[in-house]
Amino acid sequence: MTEADLLARHRAVMPTWMGLLYEEPIEIVQGRDRRVIDGSGKTYLDFFAGVLTNAMGYDVAEISDAVRKQLDTGILHTSTLYLIRSQVELAERIAKLSGIPDAKVFFTNSGSEANDTALMLATQYRRSNQVLALRNSYHGRSFATVAITGNRGWSASALSPVKVNYVHGGYRYRSPFRDLSDAAYIDACVADLVDVLETATAGDVACMIAEPVQGVGGFSLPPDGLFKAMKEVLDSYGVLFISDEVQTGWGRTGEHFWGIGAHDVTPDAMTFAKGLGNGLAVGGVVARGDLVDCFTANSFSTFGGNPVSMAGATAVLDYIADHDLQANAAARGEQLLSGLRAADSPLVGEVRGKGLMIGVELVEPGGTEPSVRAAGRVLEETKRRGLLVGKGGLHGNVLRIAPPMTLTAEEAQEGLDILVDSLAAAQA
Ligand code: PMP
Repeated sequence: MTEADLLARHRAVMPTWMGLLYEEPIEIVQGRDRRVIDGSGKTYLDFFAGVLTNAMGYDVAEISDAVRKQLDTGILHTSTLYLIRSQVELAERIAKLSGIPDAKVFFTNSGSEANDTALMLATQYRRSNQVLALRNSYHGRSFATVAITGNRGWSASALSPVKVNYVHGGYRYRSPFRDLSDAAYIDACVADLVDVLETATAGDVACMIAEPVQGVGGFSLPPDGLFKAMKEVLDSYGVLFISDEVQTGWGRTGEHFWGIGAHDVTPDAMTFAKGLGNGLAVGGVVARGDLVDCFTANSFSTFGGNPVSMAGATAVLDYIADHDLQANAAARGEQLLSGLRAADSPLVGEVRGKGLMIGVELVEPGGTEPSVRAAGRVLEETKRRGLLVGKGGLHGNVLRIAPPMTLTAEEAQEGLDILVDSLAAAQA
């Protein structure tokens, strides 16, 4: 059966709103290190790591061995009624890594559930269902998280179980704040936040949730320190702050272990998923203990924190530490950023990012108008040359580059060469 046959069957039984990349979508059947192979046998260098899921790459012996060892016990899941040692140990480790005082952890299967849980905790704690989120944000596809997602392309059809207001603090390239200095931008965001708290919200707000680097939104990042300034305002109103670290956690931004680290602020809660499992389903919330324990009813997740995911996640954290991958993310990120900035294509409006989260905003030649067409063409050209990248942004015009954190300098250069050639070909 060809990939075209599979696509026809996919379309017949799966939702129209499940977007697939490429004019001819591919099936990935095998992976090793930073490369994957599709159904026709073609090999690609993967600069998107799944969707930042395979943060360590593919077929990593230490991680596979840890998972296999758990499978060999015959215990895939023991329900939430019994103690799970690996869950306790991983929770201890994440609580410590979080820097949140007296932190507790709850494990879920995904980032959406993690954010949903954090929103439930904050709204319960504050006895309010009002939430603030950033414009252009993405927080998931559960009922509450899709409803607060600021990027309308991902949330427009969702009725809302929570009341949400949006504030500035993420995407800047085509915003009214584009030409401000960083300091003036921070002041403008703080003023916007105060204005929303004073005028747009009807009473108490439970929390503000934000991605330190907007992922789906096209790897848009605010200046360091923005969230510290916003948190001071939130604190004065008693509003909780949730950092959505689903994409930015585990050292991917290079400089800091969590994306929020660049802002010198301790959030009340952080949510995580994606890279922690290196492909296995795992997510969670780490938050102040009193916030986690504000639930009065019973609550559990049947599969959240299952021993297989816990074994994989523990091996991932070991792997990051043993191979100093945070430092590698910083070094490879610099290499990619400077290489892309030197590319000098009229299709490139902005190259931005931090560590291994790099966005290339594609525009109509020489201008600032988003070019979806250019993004589509570059994507096809990179695919043809054996490189996978992602896309995102408000208009779907931003190339998203987020390779596994294990990327080598040679592979970074190989990907850069393909990107530069693809930009030139797309321009022709
Ligand atoms: N938050 C962010 C920042 C994300 O990027 C995503 C997924 N793209 C989610 C939450 C939702 O995670 P999941 O798809 O695992 O539910």
